[in-house]
Amino acid sequence: MKVYISADMEGISGVVAGEHISSKEQEYQRFRKLMTEEVNAAVEGALAGGATLVVVNDAHGPMTNILIEELHPDAQLITGSPKPLSMMQGIEEGFHCAFLVGYHARVGTANAILDHTWTGIVAEVQLNGRPFGELGLNAGLAGACGVPVTLVTGDQAVTEEARSLLGDVEVVAVKQAVGRHAARCLPPQMAHRLITQAAERAVRARRDPLIIPPPLALTVDFVRSAHADMAELLPGSRRMGARRVQFSGADWVTTYKAWRAMITLALSVEQ
Ligand code: ZN
Repeated sequence: MKVYISADMEGISGVVAGEHISSKEQEYQRFRKLMTEEVNAAVEGALAGGATLVVVNDAHGPMTNILIEELHPDAQLITGSPKPLSMMQGIEEGFHCAFLVGYHARVGTANAILDHTWTGIVAEVQLNGRPFGELGLNAGLAGACGVPVTLVTGDQAVTEEARSLLGDVEVVAVKQAVGRHAARCLPPQMAHRLITQAAERAVRARRDPLIIPPPLALTVDFVRSAHADMAELLPGSRRMGARRVQFSGADWVTTYKAWRAMITLALSVEQ
């Protein structure tokens, strides 16, 4: 039984500031270790629940955060970037279930640590008219590959987002945000214990994949019109407003890749 883990960093206990998650900062070294440990806690639970292989995909920033020398010996690591499916690279191979560990709420969420959707130049993302964040886009892609997301960890905001989109999945809120840059956090050992227990339940649970049938209307509002100028260069996209570009996809993989292409194009202009 194969289990997939997509690991982000903003939702790791203790992380509240940009300097904690940027590889240029000294503080980052502490938090990449804590990220590795939270991932290991999820691996431990997956194995206890019956997993025979756990594939971990490093999904934050340059995607070289997790310390492989400290990774659980029964896990394998997808590290580095860019990757065609980015935060969900490898999901199309087929897995029993997927965990989203260290995740954060979508851009525009109140009381959410470092809320954003992919990058700071995105003001809002909607899929078929409903606001979507990284959680939703990644769970939708996983669902299209037949893989249910059964565990989400991060702050209380992303766990609420998970429950509202995915229903009664396992969640662990390792911190309670009191703003965008402050939170009451669980100590690592307690966070690890709760994640391991929830991961074991999450592997045993029988859950259906999130199925959002095409056509998929992905609407992106950028912060500046210049970002939209570039995003609309993507063939198949349509300019819907000064800062808004829409892409209609016939399947999830194409739509996900279109989203990534729009972001990459938009990031090529001055911030
Ligand atoms: Zn991240």
